[in-house]
Amino acid sequence: MHSETRLDALIVGAGFAGLYMLHKLRGMGFSARVVDAASGVGGTWYWNRYPGARCDVESMYYSYAFDEDLEQEWEWTERYPSQPEILRYANHVADRFDLWPDIQLETRVVSAAYDEAAASWRVTTGTGDVFDARFCIMATGCLSAANTPEFDGLDEFGGRVFHTGRWPHERVDFAGRRIGVIGTGSSAVQAIQEIAREAAHLTVFQRTAAYVVEAFNRPLPAAEQREIKANYPAIRAAARKTFGGFNRMTNEQSALSVSEEECRRRLEEGWQAGGIGFLTAYNDFGFSEAANMRAQEFVRDKIRETVKDPETAEKLLPHHVIGCKRLSLGTGYYATYNRANVSLVQLGEGGVDRITAEGVVSEGAEYRLDDLVLATGFDAMTGALARIDIRGRGGLTLRKAWEAGPRNYLGLMVNGFPNLFTITGPGSPSVLSNMMPTIEHHVEWIADCLGYLRDRKIREMEARLEAQDGWVEHANAVASKTLRYSCSSWYLGANVPGKPRVFMPYIGGMPSYREKCAAVAMAGYEGFRLATATAV
Ligand code: FAD
Ligand code: NAP
Repeated sequence: MHSETRLDALIVGAGFAGLYMLHKLRGMGFSARVVDAASGVGGTWYWNRYPGARCDVESMYYSYAFDEDLEQEWEWTERYPSQPEILRYANHVADRFDLWPDIQLETRVVSAAYDEAAASWRVTTGTGDVFDARFCIMATGCLSAANTPEFDGLDEFGGRVFHTGRWPHERVDFAGRRIGVIGTGSSAVQAIQEIAREAAHLTVFQRTAAYVVEAFNRPLPAAEQREIKANYPAIRAAARKTFGGFNRMTNEQSALSVSEEECRRRLEEGWQAGGIGFLTAYNDFGFSEAANMRAQEFVRDKIRETVKDPETAEKLLPHHVIGCKRLSLGTGYYATYNRANVSLVQLGEGGVDRITAEGVVSEGAEYRLDDLVLATGFDAMTGALARIDIRGRGGLTLRKAWEAGPRNYLGLMVNGFPNLFTITGPGSPSVLSNMMPTIEHHVEWIADCLGYLRDRKIREMEARLEAQDGWVEHANAVASKTLRYSCSSWYLGANVPGKPRVFMPYIGGMPSYREKCAAVAMAGYEGFRLATATAV
């Protein structure tokens, strides 16, 4: 027997976006439910349990601001919160706001079809259960669809295979074993540092060397926490005025307007402060190749100073634009390669040759391994949506509508798919920002919008094609002024073979994006088609 449930809103995903969306809509008297494929809440922090998993936004800022009591009562223990601590926080939120009765876990959404006559979404789960919901809200995450490259021979590998984004719940013991890690992105950087301490031998397979800046993580003293809490509203408001909702302001000066020595002095200051705010030292690292080169050289010198074996140091030197791929945070990442039990393999042009029962083959040499860790990232931003068969008006599939890259209005709604919202979707600042304030912004915009529609008895809302085209054109124009197209990043879909090469997040910054969203709402949801019961 399959169940059928009628709701005002179905929310797909029980990460921070889905949890807050549920809380908000329930508070407004809407019937809403969250479903998630996972067996717990927390999204990213439920799935990514690999050793060393940690946030690289400081805990006091990577937290909800919507509830003052929550903000005041929760105690963070470290400057950067670990995955277990963030997961405890997500569970605390679900407890505190009594969200559990409306959360349905172990439920994967496989399809969502728009019923034009009823102006509602018919959403089907993997077990055949159906939800009929006026609104479908995709809180499916930007980095939730794990990417496992089709390595030749992967199935034949005789040892254990782990993906960082699908890590087992039980502790994985690496003691006395030969481990291989494929990838050197942010997940790999964190995992490598920890696995190296435990494994008999760790071999890292690197395709592109990464820029890793020091985190300088530390316990968070109670007094420091109290002080931030006392000033939270002002601190949050200041963060909202920065490009990405972070707690560090960009120095509005060109790196080229100062001498090389002065530039290095400031970069060193930024390095010692710790964190991905390192590139806020000057305002043109993202725009000027000459400015960027100064920051690149600074990090390359750090690597040369740290890594003892010159050959390994040379292999670890990144040569792409710094900040083009996301910066990674490390705690002694480069120094890890000074350990006798760690070796680095630079993959050839074609990547891994193949995987055998015994290990990994690169450029003809076989590296024997007991376990393999795939730190190969995600089909980012569109992957989770593409894995659902989403059909809008006239049976148009989202996969077809986005075959040349995602197109939508404000990252929130797609022409042809009425009453469907995406939280932190492509076309919005999302992954370029501190995701917590970004999520809160989208949730609050969507909730206000649903209230508006209810008050005016509007049953259908859809992004107009011309508004969508205008937004996509604007987003592409802003991105084209930056250096972001110069490397093969997941922001461009370049990590997934066959994915169209489009810069997916909106890079115009949070303040202007918030202004635009507010202006659209103020003007009665300008750029959207709103249809009342009689007009449909
Ligand atoms: P998610 O947390 O990704 O949750 C989405 C949920 O949707 C998942 O639980 C998934 O199971 C579910 N789902 C997807 N498809 C379906 C389906 N078809 N059916 C049912 N359920 C489905 N951001 C920062 O700002 N700072 C950081 O330091 C940072 N660190 C990160 C570290 C890692 C390892 C990763 C992977 C991401 C990191 N991020 C960071 C980004 C992070 O994803 C966001 O901060 C935030 O957690 C996203 O929340 P969300 O609710 O939007 O999505
Ligand atoms: P990622 O940044 O995409 O890194 C994937 C790594 O795997 C890259 O080194 C990539 O090499 C390599 N790779 C992919 N396919 C490969 C193939 N076929 N052969 C060989 N190597 C291959 O993924 P991630 O490290 O999981 O991070 C994704 C994002 O999640 C981050 O950018 C960040 O936004 C977030 N994150 C944040 C933190 C944090 O510190 N808070 C931690 C983890 C993740 P190429 O570079 O050559 O493609």
